Amino acid sequence: MDKLTPERRSENMRQIRGKNTLPEFAIRRLCCELGYTGYRIHRKDLPGKPDLAWVGRKRAIFVHGCFWHGHHCAEGIRKPKSNRDYWIPKIERNQQRDAENIAALRVAGWSVLVIWECEINKQGRLSKRLQQFLLANTLNKSFRRTRQKARVPLTQTSEEFCRKP
Ligand SMILES: [Zn+2]
Repeated sequence: MDKLTPERRSENMRQIRGKNTLPEFAIRRLCCELGYTGYRIHRKDLPGKPDLAWVGRKRAIFVHGCFWHGHHCAEGIRKPKSNRDYWIPKIERNQQRDAENIAALRVAGWSVLVIWECEINKQGRLSKRLQQFLLANTLNKSFRRTRQKARVPLTQTSEEFCRKP
């Protein structure tokens, strides 16, 4: 029996494709609200097609689903009961590929930040981490544009997160 709501089902599909997931929208929105605009999404010419990338500044962010990328949290260590022979190698391959992509970016001089899905609802801590990451060794103040105050919890983010000023 399939009891998923339409929203839940479309989020599942996004997670399977691994692109434009709700946690990704939440991070993009938070970056906009903090004033770090100008990122590119899923750049094909970068290892692992980072979810957000500031190309000129060589900053890349990956937003990872805890289950699919094998995070060390309750969701990440949850192992499916059926088709284990399929899921476990798949998650291990994802982890291996993630490590290779991050290493390749670092070798090319990039700074890389991984944000896990389970961290999305800790908005205060997340804002601080993003600011530290994006401002580190950055002297150009124009990087950070106008700041808008967050009004809605990140967990309620829709796709219309970033309003042009
Ligand atoms: Zn997690």
